[in-house]
Amino acid sequence: MAPAARVRIKGLYTLPKAQTVVTPAILETVADFFRQYRGRVLGLTGAGVSVLSGIPDYRGSNGTYRVYGSYTPILHHELIQQHTSRQRYWARSFFGIKPAFQAEPNTNHYALATLESRGYLAGLITQNVDGLHLQAGSRNVLELHGTLKYVKCLGCGFRESRSEFQKRLEEMNPEWADFWCQMVRSGKEPARRPDGDVDLPPNLEYESFKYPKCHKCHTGNFMPTVVFFGGNVSEMDRERSYRMVDDADALLVCGTSLTTFSAYRLVKRAREQGKQALIVNYGQTRGDADATLKLETVCENILSPVAAQLA
Ligand SMILES: [Zn+2]
Repeated sequence: MAPAARVRIKGLYTLPKAQTVVTPAILETVADFFRQYRGRVLGLTGAGVSVLSGIPDYRGSNGTYRVYGSYTPILHHELIQQHTSRQRYWARSFFGIKPAFQAEPNTNHYALATLESRGYLAGLITQNVDGLHLQAGSRNVLELHGTLKYVKCLGCGFRESRSEFQKRLEEMNPEWADFWCQMVRSGKEPARRPDGDVDLPPNLEYESFKYPKCHKCHTGNFMPTVVFFGGNVSEMDRERSYRMVDDADALLVCGTSLTTFSAYRLVKRAREQGKQALIVNYGQTRGDADATLKLETVCENILSPVAAQLA
């Protein structure tokens, strides 16, 4: 197997020593922000909103990069280039996707859905691929980095649900399914990544792993409908994200360090247009200097109480 390509993980900022103490006055400030810009607030979310759902983030206090400094996410070109890297990818994803299927929305997702249904929030742009905003009932959602809910054939574009694809993987690889059961039974369930990857033993051989063919064109070159490290946001999604920013009067940034340029540039764009940007994140973000207000705390301390206040 070709050696895994390495990428440098940037943006592992030091965590702050002090959190914002969330007083009634702070909650009132955020509620006022929503009252003032009612219906014209755009939410921008990242992994931090899904941590309570059991999906690890990359850069938070227990984030993947902090706990496993050497973690290398799979790169787009690795996946599409070679049969062996596709075997490795689908074998790991076969295990890694299981918890993602079971994850449920948490108070952050529900609070944002409530703020939208009550007319405060215009919509959401999320960097998350877990689909939990939609599951919680948010409607105007742009999943900037795609979703793990589908796979798509690179030959003909055919889309298949990830859960159907999973069934096919299970049928083709019964011995791998047994291997997982053994690991779970022995209490050695491997660590998961936010992108649905999983931390399998390093010496594992993937040669026996089989992946299915496309129902339509019968080739076997699938990828999940997500933007990988080294991949690009589609032009259509980028344009839509710009339109959403242009249509809004204020940004609420939650649970993201904005390290990814595709997200950071939206904050920059909003600020260049003279718009407000309120950032709620425990930990430094790339957009701190652009923020009109930064709250140094996890989203759950702000979103639910504010949504309740705006009932
Ligand atoms: Zn196809």
